[in-house]
Amino acid sequence: MRQSLIMGNWKMNGNLQGGQQLAKALAEGLGEVQQEVAVCVPFVYLSGIRDVLASSPISLGAQNVADQASGAYTGEVSAAMLADIGAKYALVGHSERRSYYGDTNQTVANRFCQAQKQNVIPVLCVGETLEEREQDRTFQVVDEQLDAVIDAAGIEAFANAVIAYEPVWAIGTGKTASDDQAQEVHKYIRERIAARSQTIADKVQILYGGSVKADNAKALFAMPDIDGGLVGGASLDAKGFLQICHSV
Ligand code: PEP
Repeated sequence: MRQSLIMGNWKMNGNLQGGQQLAKALAEGLGEVQQEVAVCVPFVYLSGIRDVLASSPISLGAQNVADQASGAYTGEVSAAMLADIGAKYALVGHSERRSYYGDTNQTVANRFCQAQKQNVIPVLCVGETLEEREQDRTFQVVDEQLDAVIDAAGIEAFANAVIAYEPVWAIGTGKTASDDQAQEVHKYIRERIAARSQTIADKVQILYGGSVKADNAKALFAMPDIDGGLVGGASLDAKGFLQICHSV
């Protein structure tokens, strides 16, 4: 039985005080849950949010991680630094990084490996654009994104990783993949992993991301291969995000 994981992605929003208030409201409002809850916050606020979450079960994540271990990489934040500050997770290959900042399947694979070397759990984001879906290339795109990481890290690496299927056309657009559309790709991803290792496929958490809201979360999370969600916009509102967390 896979544990569900609900992960907020605050993106580049808010300030320290607002983030701490949000984290406090989440910590106070979560109550006893079986699923894991995490928030991926801007680098500069990691330690400030960590302090607020210290006595709560909510985990801390970063939104990216450097593809190099250390050295002359101005502006980058290494996996060792994330581990040092207490981050459990790091998103890698979020579509906004891929489309606005030139992340390629290769750099994403490098980020994934760097995170794992420091025991930071990478959350590998994959997903197709609207154009790719309309060209019937969803599975091909997801294959390429997954295979680059499997080739670099090995299938065993997915024993300590999370996958997030995020159709790009559903991120921040208010358009959500239907439960069946999402399940179809999640099942496909799990089968692709199972072709290499059934044990890993049974274990790996595959989150859905793309305009998850309180009113659609329950149906999505009920699908057999959807193990929770990566939630962007709706994670900025404590009440709505807690409702999503309780939808599992
Ligand atoms: C995301 O940032 O990963 C995301 C899914 O955003 P939203 O929920 O706003 O679509």
